[in-house]
Amino acid sequence: MAGELPGAYKILLQQNVIFYNKLSEPQKFQFEDRVQHFLSSVKITGVGTEVEDIDRTLAGASAIIPIFAFPDWEYNNLHEILLYPETFNEQFEQTGNDRPVMGMVGSGAMNHIMILSKHALREGFSNKTDKNNTALHEFIHLIDKTDGDTDGIPETLLQHQYVLPWVNMIHKNIKEILKDNSDINPYGATNQAEFFAVVSEYFFERPDLMRRKHPELYDMLEKMFRKDEMSHS
Ligand SMILES: [Zn+2]
Repeated sequence: MAGELPGAYKILLQQNVIFYNKLSEPQKFQFEDRVQHFLSSVKITGVGTEVEDIDRTLAGASAIIPIFAFPDWEYNNLHEILLYPETFNEQFEQTGNDRPVMGMVGSGAMNHIMILSKHALREGFSNKTDKNNTALHEFIHLIDKTDGDTDGIPETLLQHQYVLPWVNMIHKNIKEILKDNSDINPYGATNQAEFFAVVSEYFFERPDLMRRKHPELYDMLEKMFRKDEMSHS
């Protein structure tokens, strides 16, 4: 696929992606351009399911939303997305009872590959009031991984002086989650990397709510994703 983003994709962005709808007209144009570029450089393959325009659009949007403020960002660590119809397990099996995984960034032999459940990809954009978006979550792991470690400390986004405050913030918030005293998805208490992915989903899905409930966390994520600069451009 080359050239302009097909018209159908533009309509799908309008119908499904709140982040896109909130952009100014010139920014919308940039967003479309970057989704198009992403889709021309990363292959999306259906495994036991058909890849439709809506899936390509939403995968592309999930990739661009978190790094939209970084015009030169390339996902050099991703070559292909495998789309599974439903959830799968750690062995990539789609059948059986134990298959709770909705998305995954591959390592080892699966390096440079992301797996997403088609159902979860669509669900991430259809529910406008939850704080969850599976595909976005997986792209956050990829962004985290660009410095070599998926450890919740995205050195490419985080200026050095903010690393320690960020780590302290992670630990403070994980404590609150474990005390059942937080509205952050409890999966975020798994480790630092999952915390970063989970709060980033919250940040992009429900920014106003996060700003109210977690102002410090909001400010830090705003710095990382340079969302403050973007809104003034
Ligand atoms: Zn995760």
